[in-house]
Amino acid sequence: MIVVMKPGATQKQIDHVVELIEDLGLKSHIIQGTDRTVVAALGEKRDGAKQALETGDGVEKVMPILAPYKMASTEVKKEPTCVEVLKLKVGAGKIGVIAGPCSVESREQILEVARAVREAGATALRGGAFKPRTSPYSFQGLKEKGLQLLAEARDATGLAIVTEVMAPEHVSLLAQYTDIMQVGARNMQNYPLLEAVGESGKPVLLKRGPSATMDEFLLAAEYILKTGNANVMLCERGIRTFEDHTRFTLPLATVPYLHQTTHLPVVVDPSHGTGKASLVTPMAVASIAAGADGLIIEVHPNPEKAMSDGYQSLTPAAFREMMAECRKIATALGKKM
Ligand code: PEP
Ligand code: MN
Repeated sequence: MIVVMKPGATQKQIDHVVELIEDLGLKSHIIQGTDRTVVAALGEKRDGAKQALETGDGVEKVMPILAPYKMASTEVKKEPTCVEVLKLKVGAGKIGVIAGPCSVESREQILEVARAVREAGATALRGGAFKPRTSPYSFQGLKEKGLQLLAEARDATGLAIVTEVMAPEHVSLLAQYTDIMQVGARNMQNYPLLEAVGESGKPVLLKRGPSATMDEFLLAAEYILKTGNANVMLCERGIRTFEDHTRFTLPLATVPYLHQTTHLPVVVDPSHGTGKASLVTPMAVASIAAGADGLIIEVHPNPEKAMSDGYQSLTPAAFREMMAECRKIATALGKKM
């Protein structure tokens, strides 16, 4: 349920509503809107709870939250959320670009890409150190050494770092190095991992599972939000269909759909979404046109030699061109990129 306070409700009245909610055995969550405060009451449905809350001083109305995801829903918070990490701003009219290699491979490689993508206008650096690979015989990432190299690249460039965390027991190690925790597509429904990244307090980039519905995706985000961590970015990265001309199928209607259903910012990954370098720029442009709040793009100084996902990686020069194309659309939409 959401308890909508009257405009100008006092702190004392809000505190009293929180107390009422907690006495009912529910969890309270305060959302400060521009003209009024809303208090969400989360938990199992309770008989008489609505009536009890309606009697609270300063309460205007009590409404059920219809969506299964509560804190992620626009029913609870209408204003779009902007996630800000160092210079990266994603959401509420700001478009942020995260770019870098699929995997961190060496100091030279990560520093070269970091400088190139920053110059082109990216404000965050991606790079996998713990890699989820389909085959156990493929390169698995440099692990902690990769994290150290990412931190070095941040110190050299000021870019925020985004890297994937694959297991709850790795969260504390990653938290020492990264600015943003990426939860990969394969782990979207790994609930202990979602809780652990939520509790780390670090902003999270949550990728959609290739066969997850929108409700499943938003309920996964809810696991993170429920820990009190409000900095969640949703990432559409393509789904599995019968199509085989692309690695995955990139459904861009999810962008406006998510903007209707959630206040969380939406990032698109056209690199994994297409699996083909030649399709990345057109789909990045299309993502911005569809209203994406951010992009995550694989860039490698020498894609042919990449240890993972080279076929879908842009060269620094191609990334620069992609940024120029995307900016034209962002400007037309009155957004900052
Ligand atoms: C990645 O970002 O390199 C990655 C493995 O992405 P996904 O989880 O979307 O497959
Ligand atoms: Mn990759």
